[in-house]
Amino acid sequence: MNHNNLSDIYKFTQRNMINWSLTSKFFHHNSRDTYTDDKHSKDISWIIKSSTGTLPTLDFLNRNFPNLIKNDTKCMLCNSAEESNDHIWKCPTLLPHIRSTFRLLADQAQTFLQKYADKLNLCITDSIKYSNTFCWSFYNDAPITDNATLLLRSYVSEDLFRTFRTHFLTQGATIKAILKFMETATRLIKRNIWKVRSAAWKDKKRRLQITKKSFKNYQRDPRMKTTRAPRCRNIGYICPQTVSLYNNYNRSDLIFIILASSNFLHSSVFFNQLTYDLSDDISYYSSPHYSRILMV
Ligand SMILES: [Zn+2]
Repeated sequence: MNHNNLSDIYKFTQRNMINWSLTSKFFHHNSRDTYTDDKHSKDISWIIKSSTGTLPTLDFLNRNFPNLIKNDTKCMLCNSAEESNDHIWKCPTLLPHIRSTFRLLADQAQTFLQKYADKLNLCITDSIKYSNTFCWSFYNDAPITDNATLLLRSYVSEDLFRTFRTHFLTQGATIKAILKFMETATRLIKRNIWKVRSAAWKDKKRRLQITKKSFKNYQRDPRMKTTRAPRCRNIGYICPQTVSLYNNYNRSDLIFIILASSNFLHSSVFFNQLTYDLSDDISYYSSPHYSRILMV
């Protein structure tokens, strides 16, 4: 994993914008019936890749499969910048889809609060309307806020927490409602926003005659083997068994190091039960070396 993918998260952490305790809870959350459920694996795959900036965008694919992508990494939607994890949430062509999805998310948040809130029920509409996470989406020319970007990347922001906390008597009830909302939100984001990009990628693959086999067999072709970019290695080691995000949520510097450590991502119990998923759009193209492991 490239630590540059987390530079904005580091910035948000320094500004105390992320509720690490709840984010950690959400990363471990599973409302599905079983941990081996295929849909659960896809949910987790999305959360890991969106939060760590490792969605298979063209820059990423080009590093792993240079002979397939051939340095053609221009964003397939706006054609004005390199397609990267950073660009995808700022893409001008994708922005209207992001905006309309956040209007839907604002509706969802309101519905959740109206259903579960036990305090200040009459102010729910205003709470959502003035929340920094959602307010920008009601104006067609307003730029996306950092709190909205955090939600796009599967993080629970302090802004979202405060918005919900106002309407509950207890912390426990707040957490329960936020986890439910986050689950709905990440699925909607994937379905309404990433899907637009995926459709463009499918068209491009068809044009270039790239198939799943092209990725699967990539390493087997000796002509292609030598041109693959070298893998970056992380510096330092943090034993994932001895740390816990939950117990260190107020140590933003430590939390960031733990989160940024691929050792943690590889070894945490949370990730151990991940299964290989060939059928969807985000996990397949990540790593030709370790095609049965989701993380790079
Ligand atoms: Zn773009």
